[in-house]
Amino acid sequence: MSFKYFENLWNLWYTELHNGTAGLTLKIKKVLYSGESKFQRIEVFDTYEYGKMLVLYGSIMFTERDEFIYHEMISHVPLFVHPSPEEVLVIGGGDGGTIKEVSRHPGVKRIKMVEIDQQVVEISKKFFPIMSKGFSDPRLNLIFGDGAEFVKTDTGKYEVIIIDSPDPIGPADVLFKEEFFSNAKKRLREGGILVAQTESPFYHPDIVKNTYSYLRKLFSNVLMYWSWIPAYPSAMWSFCFCSDKLHPLKNFREEKYMELGLETKYYNKGIHFGAFSLPTFAEKLI
Ligand code: SAM
Repeated sequence: MSFKYFENLWNLWYTELHNGTAGLTLKIKKVLYSGESKFQRIEVFDTYEYGKMLVLYGSIMFTERDEFIYHEMISHVPLFVHPSPEEVLVIGGGDGGTIKEVSRHPGVKRIKMVEIDQQVVEISKKFFPIMSKGFSDPRLNLIFGDGAEFVKTDTGKYEVIIIDSPDPIGPADVLFKEEFFSNAKKRLREGGILVAQTESPFYHPDIVKNTYSYLRKLFSNVLMYWSWIPAYPSAMWSFCFCSDKLHPLKNFREEKYMELGLETKYYNKGIHFGAFSLPTFAEKLI
């Protein structure tokens, strides 16, 4: 019997459930990688609808079809607010998507990235050459280690810190603790900006509430911004913007934004401003 016949029988789906009761399911064209690192299960699937995707511990990290939304929003919002973001620290971010966007800012002189799992970087380089091109940027200093330990012992100072963590599970749980945010703040230069992904206000209200309560103890300005990310649970995803001196709207650098004229697919000036307008239920959480 020809392969064509069997192909129609191929009926493999990847399903990510929220609370085991609701979720997203994607039909799989091909399983490209499946393995286990010291820290987590790592899978790469090719899907019909979203292209290739990286899955860690059973959770979608990104898909080729919608990764640009998350990576543009977590990077360009702080980098178009800070007046001179020369030193950027990225915690997590092993897929390379965030440093891909950060490296598009010529004013950034050095990028330090602390990723706990070297295998995620290797897998991303192998299966996602476009996503992972930031790893070859000469400004990058890539360190393999625990981000929470790093901010405790590092002596460096940064204008922008980006916490590109997965969900608060396994090695990433520590990246949602007050102690981590407190140590991360000590690494910020005067007037610096810290942004972090802060899960879904729709699906994870308790995580959001706790995270913002920690951040409000540490920073004068703590604002949520959000975007639509179809492959993430509930598709409503949030980020926090934290700074003692800078405000994401009052200090938006219009001239730099116009001068750079970055070719983006989601982020733009209207989205930058609109993303900080929250649904009432999200406002009440923070
Ligand atoms: N955009 C994705 C999301 O919102 O879930 C996350 C992107 S990236 C794949 C997350 C990275 O954080 C992973 O590569 C994971 O290995 C890394 N990570 C988890 N815990 C960490 C820790 N304690 N220190 C540094 N990196 C960590």
